[in-house]
Amino acid sequence: MKDNNSFDVAVIGGGPAGIMAAGRAAELGAKVVLIEKNEILGKKLLITGKGRCNFTHNEFDIRKFAEKFGRNGRFLYSALAVFGARETIIFFESRGVKGEVEQGDRVFPEKGNAQDILNVLIKYLAKGKVNILLNSEVTGFKQKNGKISQVLLRERQISTDKYIICAGGKAYPQTGSTGDGYRWAEQLGHTVIPPVPALNPVKTSEDWVKELQGLSLKNVSIKLFQNGKKQDERFGEMLFAHFGVSGPILMDMSKNIGALLKKGPVKLLLDLKPALDFKKLDQRIQRDFQEFKGRMFKNSLKGLLPLSMIPVMIKLSGIEPVKKVDYISREERNKLVHLLKELELTPTELLGFKWSVVTSGGVSLKEVNPNNMSSKKIENLYFAGEILDLDGPSGGYNLQECWSTGYLAGESAAKLG
Ligand SMILES: Cc1cc2nc3c(=O)[nH]c(=O)nc-3n(C[C@H](O)[C@H](O)[C@H](O)COP(=O)(O)OP(=O)(O)OC[C@H]3O[C@@H](n4cnc5c(N)ncnc54)[C@H](O)[C@@H]3O)c2cc1C
Repeated sequence: MKDNNSFDVAVIGGGPAGIMAAGRAAELGAKVVLIEKNEILGKKLLITGKGRCNFTHNEFDIRKFAEKFGRNGRFLYSALAVFGARETIIFFESRGVKGEVEQGDRVFPEKGNAQDILNVLIKYLAKGKVNILLNSEVTGFKQKNGKISQVLLRERQISTDKYIICAGGKAYPQTGSTGDGYRWAEQLGHTVIPPVPALNPVKTSEDWVKELQGLSLKNVSIKLFQNGKKQDERFGEMLFAHFGVSGPILMDMSKNIGALLKKGPVKLLLDLKPALDFKKLDQRIQRDFQEFKGRMFKNSLKGLLPLSMIPVMIKLSGIEPVKKVDYISREERNKLVHLLKELELTPTELLGFKWSVVTSGGVSLKEVNPNNMSSKKIENLYFAGEILDLDGPSGGYNLQECWSTGYLAGESAAKLG
């Protein structure tokens, strides 16, 4: 029997992975302490999905789900088999928060409030009588005979049988994810794949993007090139910002952009009309010009482009805005078609960790057992969540990775040996 100050499992980090790990271990009867340096649990969770929390993706096929994490995705097979998207939806629904499938199979809580998700998790912890230490910063670990003997806090140490590190990555450090876990992992003998920002807005060099700040475009396609070779292509929604471009398709592409920029310059070609090939678009423009006969060029593009984009496209086309459409030459029209199909953007750098949604890189998966999330280096250590070398696209994949690995780590650590 443990006394009031001794625990079976210590979980470090009160984000989605840590809360799930602590809750599951406690549910199985372990005496758990959850240590969080912030004043509240789930600080980052509350801002996910713009406060609406896209908490999973409506994909129940484990392989298809794991594929989204690239080559490292196979690591998730066991965790997803134990607690995948289906189990996550049931977990929240059975506790009063129904999942609503939205566009692109993204799953949000019914009322669109991340706080509802956090409330369920806090109740889960309370039910398991998890001891929650807030405002408690972990500074490191003490080892003895190849095992962790203590977790060190600023003003105290805690000894438990098992330790689960869920300190997150380096993305959005303003929420507490400052990469401390990587340092501890290295000190404990683990390899850390260098963390880089992923799902990150992209800075571009073109001045005109500023004029489009706030403009969101749906159903566009964007291609990434280096040395004339296509490296990536995405279709969907994007956003212009004062510094460059953002929104789902750019964010999903940002990891590749960041990696390629290290080797040399890259180009983005934005296709504003992916449903029409060059010829069909030219025919469409000719029809529009026919319709607008006798009118000025600047007044002929309303059917083709969002209003705020028209002045920019006119400027880039080099066609006199007051020129009558009847006098626009074939060459000028060609230029316009090319602009609409291949609008060039030049990425210069990513916006960086401060505005990154997830971290790519982290604790090497080669040194973690995928069947129970235990360290292959230290007997009584487990990892879960973003600290692992796993990152998925936007759409609820990253939170699901946290629920799955957190649940499995908690379950494994609770099986005390
Ligand atoms: C703006 C934004 C929107 C997002 N939206 C979505 C979305 O809609 N869907 C989705 O799937 N994913 C989304 N994500 C990603 C998702 O939030 C992360 O994948 C997830 O939060 C990672 O969970 P985690 O528990 O591993 O780490 P974190 O959430 O980072 O939690 C780690 C915790 O550890 C604590 N900690 C760190 N160091 C210490 C220490 N030394 N001592 C004590 N505690 C410590 C931190 O304070 C933090 O609370 C979003 C991310 C951002 C930034």
